[in-house]
Amino acid sequence: MKIAVYPGSFDPITLGHLNIVKRASRLFDKVYVCVMVNSAKHPIFSLQERMEFIKRCTGKYGNVEVEYSNKLLVEYAKSRGATFIVKGLRALSDFDMEFQMALMNKKMESSIDTVFLTADEKYTYLSSTIVREMARYHADLSRFVPREIIDDVLAKVGG
Ligand code: ADP
Repeated sequence: MKIAVYPGSFDPITLGHLNIVKRASRLFDKVYVCVMVNSAKHPIFSLQERMEFIKRCTGKYGNVEVEYSNKLLVEYAKSRGATFIVKGLRALSDFDMEFQMALMNKKMESSIDTVFLTADEKYTYLSSTIVREMARYHADLSRFVPREIIDDVLAKVGG
């Protein structure tokens, strides 16, 4: 059984993230989308909100589960029996950091491999930061976040 973990802050989940979840769900038998609790980051959406948003948009994928973790990523992956970490790569600017993290994770746990999926070209420019910024100005979010969460994102960020 091929089990993968897709980690991130998902503050909030975007169509770019969802595209990676969909493709990962086809590649692996089971995918854990994991909201990583990171004390260095100050998310706008609470952990519960971020998990609930992801659940709302990924319910249609029978092999996807949504969880959170405050452990080291490889420890969380091991606890789920996962041997793959999935990452989305948008641009060269993502590469340095992701490459370094993949090597570190491999050093810590050699049985776990990081698999990079190239972002769909429609979403290479898209990040949660951009979504939060657009929401502040009440912009049309339909091309950026799953429709299931648009109203809630606007209500929270747009005031
Ligand atoms: P962000 O960089 O938007 O704050 P996260 O930390 O939540 O995102 O990212 C989680 C994972 O999703 C990372 O592997 C990141 O590279 C990937 N990702 C983020 N945005 C996109 C996108 N638009 N297309 C594909 N992958 C993405």
